[in-house]
Amino acid sequence: MKSQLNKRKELLLEVSKQMQQEGLVIGPGGNTSIKDEAGIMWISPSGIPFIEMSIDDFVPINVATGKLIDSRLMPSSEVPLHLLIYQARPDANCIIHAHPSYVISLSAVDIPIVPLFPDFVVYLGEVVPQIPYVTPCTEEMGRLVADKMEEVPSCVLKNHGAVTIGTSIKEAYTRMQVLESGAKILFRAKLLGEPRVLSKQEAQAILDLDIEQYRKKLLRESDE
Ligand SMILES: [Zn+2]
Repeated sequence: MKSQLNKRKELLLEVSKQMQQEGLVIGPGGNTSIKDEAGIMWISPSGIPFIEMSIDDFVPINVATGKLIDSRLMPSSEVPLHLLIYQARPDANCIIHAHPSYVISLSAVDIPIVPLFPDFVVYLGEVVPQIPYVTPCTEEMGRLVADKMEEVPSCVLKNHGAVTIGTSIKEAYTRMQVLESGAKILFRAKLLGEPRVLSKQEAQAILDLDIEQYRKKLLRESDE
């Protein structure tokens, strides 16, 4: 019988491959991880595109100590990013880092990604923070992102990409899809005129809907 951890690794790999097919990452770019019940994160390996990976390739690292547990592969170079987010957000069980083209385009010209449609508010809230450009793979970058994500589930990395977290794998992934969709819609709307942004009251009214609470609960519990 497959262990619960192996089932989650299979789902993470499936989602990671889908991310590559959808163009949210190109080649070996981007990285994904899950955290298990023993406080070990399983992160995608360095240099292997998701479509060439197997579930045995995820590299285990202790979240509290940052120590690599024996592995034949090198972990993704973005280990500090994942570790610092898990340490700052004990509620996160999955982290997705991608390079979505519309998100990067808007970040490069300093256009904040704001809520233009209800699903954006449901999955990302009202604010998507952005960090300034810093060299990838550094502790400095991880620290900036972890600080911004103390109370929100996503962050844009200027001229680089985005990070989303979730209680479940599907929640983290849906958030990345909605973020890129939000950036794409905003990009197109700006070509036509000045878009109308959902107000605080409109956002709150969406969050208060019983059906949205239900949909969010389903997504949070989707790994179980
Ligand atoms: Zn990156």
